[in-house]
Amino acid sequence: MEIGFIGLGNMGAPMALNLVAAGHDVTGYDLQASCPEGVGAAASASEAAAGRDVVITMLPNGAILRAVAAEILPAMREGAVLVDCSTVEVAAAREVASQAAARGIGCLDAPVSGGVGGAAAGTLTFMVGGTEADFATAEPLFDVMGQKAVHCGGAGNGQAAKICNNMILGVTMIATCEAFALADKLGLDRQAMFDVVSTSSGYSWTMNAYCPAPGVGPQSPADHDYQPGFAADLMLKDLRLSQSAADDVDADTPMGQAACALYETFVEQEDGAGRDFSAMLPRFEKRGRG
Ligand code: NAD
Repeated sequence: MEIGFIGLGNMGAPMALNLVAAGHDVTGYDLQASCPEGVGAAASASEAAAGRDVVITMLPNGAILRAVAAEILPAMREGAVLVDCSTVEVAAAREVASQAAARGIGCLDAPVSGGVGGAAAGTLTFMVGGTEADFATAEPLFDVMGQKAVHCGGAGNGQAAKICNNMILGVTMIATCEAFALADKLGLDRQAMFDVVSTSSGYSWTMNAYCPAPGVGPQSPADHDYQPGFAADLMLKDLRLSQSAADDVDADTPMGQAACALYETFVEQEDGAGRDFSAMLPRFEKRGRG
């Protein structure tokens, strides 16, 4: 396929390279980053988008997505499909989809999980909102860039799935970290704590697969001085998106709200910026109830 790829940062560059390696013709554009070798360089976003079968965006946030969409939709050909893989507000995804539909252009919101490692290895999971027909068009590309693509329903539902998943992830990571810190103070050995919880009703992905305590469980960022991994800053972004979505639809999310406030403190007032989101454990270790 002829593909335009806009946003060639930490995630976008390796995703674009996997498409090139699979034989697709990829033309890229980024405001700052240079095009990786094998990706044709366009002089603007609209040049990267013009005449392509599919245009993929991988951008920092919804405001930038809206601005880029306003620029590229008039340049895209009718019948083409815009696939936004960024993590943005559900409302932004739905707005861009309706602007695309008004021009006869397909649109999917397709945020990912799997991080930079998954982008490089081509093992991302895509959570996709949009029509069946547009999903069918993009599915071969999801197969190249990822290991699984779930069609979650209409426009915005991919973003909805992403922020609900990450709200659970943020809350669960905090619960796992505070339980380890409590166990320490109760004199419980960390390996014993892991062995019990990972095979008992407290098990979770954060305990079993991404344990925040170094030296127990499988290798995780905790074993590498909490280098991300999944940065606390990105967790804060996703928790904020979950809370603004909850505001929009009047959903009661007390645990999500508490997790958002805690990551906000950690990233903006403490030493959480640039550290993995599991570095909540050393944070709790140092603290008491006061
Ligand atoms: P990044 O900052 O490395 O890349 C974003 C790129 O977009 C940058 O290179 C930037 O120059 C470019 N850009 C900004 N404005 C632009 C414009 N107007 N036109 C063209 N290019 C523009 O970020 P990333 O880590 O690649 O993340 C991208 C998206 O993926 C974000 O929405 C993020 O939340 C999501 N995400 C990231 C991860 C991760 O682990 N990094 C995991 C899952 C989802």
